[in-house]
Parts: sequence; structure tokens; C-alpha cells
Amino acid sequence: MFDNLSTRLGKVFDRLKGKGVLSEGDVGDAMREIRVAMLEADVALPVVKDFIASVREKAVGQEVLRSITPGQMVVKIVNDHLRELLGGATSELKLASPPAVILMVGLQGSGKTTSSAKLAVRLRKDRKKVLLASLDVQRPAAQKQLEVLAQQAQVDSLPIVNGQQPLDITRRALESARREGFDVLILDTAGRLHIDESLMVELLQVRDLAKPHETLLVADALTGQDAVNVASHFHERIAVTGIVLTRLDGDARGGAALSMRQVTGRPIKFVGMGEKLDALEVFHPDRMAGRILG
Ligand code: GDP
Repeated sequence: MFDNLSTRLGKVFDRLKGKGVLSEGDVGDAMREIRVAMLEADVALPVVKDFIASVREKAVGQEVLRSITPGQMVVKIVNDHLRELLGGATSELKLASPPAVILMVGLQGSGKTTSSAKLAVRLRKDRKKVLLASLDVQRPAAQKQLEVLAQQAQVDSLPIVNGQQPLDITRRALESARREGFDVLILDTAGRLHIDESLMVELLQVRDLAKPHETLLVADALTGQDAVNVASHFHERIAVTGIVLTRLDGDARGGAALSMRQVTGRPIKFVGMGEKLDALEVFHPDRMAGRILG
């Protein structure tokens, strides 16, 4: 396993103890340790470079070189800066007056349908009346899958009408949510194996019709840099409002979280921590900072 960052930096600064005053070069050694930790955690190289530059600037500004515990000071500066970049505080859902619409988007297999149901469970526990609707007419069993998950989540799902297209299903879902007094409508969209134009056109049409209050991109943390590219493409086309990062129960080191936040400027709102419907947690930047630094 990797040493954690404090231990690594401790070693760097231990070597320098006898030297009296620390030089810029010594700080440079520490920066190299941080760089390795971040790259190992799957953070994209340009993001790492920016990060190191700002930390170096802060470290010099705060006179780390002359402090008695320079190692600890650097660790604190790194942690604080990483938390700030990851979003500082947690970011809750913005739900307007009912029915609030949440549009779930992402590639096939990213965990969209599962995350839709998980979100429904959370909202139900907050005493919201939730309607789930699947717009996925690509995969034959997708609508049925959401219906089954809705039952497990103990929330309603829009009755399936075979042969209906995504825009018609959206219209029906919106009408039903209004008529039946739902607080939240969650629209689970179709994914594709790769980003393609037909998917984007479909999503744009649905978005313009449904006017969602939240558009959440669901991305698989295990896919690392690919997930970052996906986030960047989706955001460019359909302006997401937040990210759900799934499979953080796996061995993803979380660097993708930082890169995604950087390329979209949008917060990570939730993380998926398992297949069960209660395995969705609010994203905590401080926990993720710890995970990235090892
Ligand atoms: P979709 O194609 O994007 O709708 O993906 P699904 O919701 O069908 O999820 C694909 C698979 O990933 C399913 O087997 C889910 O149980 C699993 N899955 C989803 N989220 C998580 C997660 O956070 N952790 C783990 N371990 N598995 C997940």
C-alpha cells in the first residue's frame, strides 16, 4: 500500500532536519511527493500541475520554510487547498416548488438507474413524494428494471406504455407528477456505451421539455480518466448541475472526483458506495481529500 502523505512528507523533512534552514529545493522535494500521491490517485496531470503551483505559492507565502514544523504545515496547506478545490462544503440538491424535476444522465452501465432509485430512497426518507420514470427505450428491460427498483425503494414509478418514445414518456411523467401531487420527479434517461450525437440530441430534447431543476451526471469512479472526459463532454452539451460518482466502494482512489470538479466547475453531490439502495452518500470534500492523498 501507499504511504500516506503525512508519512511521506515527514520522511522528506526528517532528512532535512539537521540542515537548519530549509531551501526552496527542499520544498520542491515535498512537492514531488505530493505530485506522486496525486498521480497515483488518478488525478489528471494538468490538474496536478496547477495544484502544485498554487500550493507552492501558498507555502512560500506562509513562510513554511522558517516554521518549526514545515512538514505539518505543508500537509495542512495541501489538505485545505484540496478540500477547497473539491468544493469546500457539501452540496445539497436544489429542489424548486413541486414537482421538482431531476434529470439523470450518463453512459450505459455508469449506475444511472441504480442511482435514480437510491436518490428516490433518500428523498422518500425526507418525506418527499417521489415519482420515478425511465425514458430508456434503448435497452428492452430498462423500464422494467426501474419499475422493480422503484418497488424496492417504496416509491411510485410511471406505468410502462410499450412503444412510447422518450419525449412522450417525459410529457406523460410531467403530467402525472403535476396531477398526482408528486414533490419530485426523477427522469432516468437512456445511456449509450459511448457518447454519440443521437444520445445528446435526445437528451437536449428531453431537457428542453422537462426543464429540470437538477441535471445530474452519473459517472463511474472506476473508469478514472474516461469518466473525466465523459463529464467534460456531457457538461459542454447539456450543462449538468452536479455529479453522482458511483462505485467508490471499489478501489478507485478518487482522483477522478477532483478532475471532474475542475473540468465542469460543478459539484459532486453524491457518491455511490455499493449496489444496495441505501448505499448513496452525500459527498464530503474532506473525506475525498484524505482518500486522494492516501
Ligand atoms: P445504468 O446502465 O447507468 O443505468 O447502470 P445501472 O444502474 O444498471 O448499474 C450497473 C451496475 O452497477 C449494476 O449492477 C449496479 O448494481 C451497479 N452499481 C451501481 N452503482 C454502484 C455503486 O455505487 N457501487 C457498486 N459496487 N455497484 C454499483
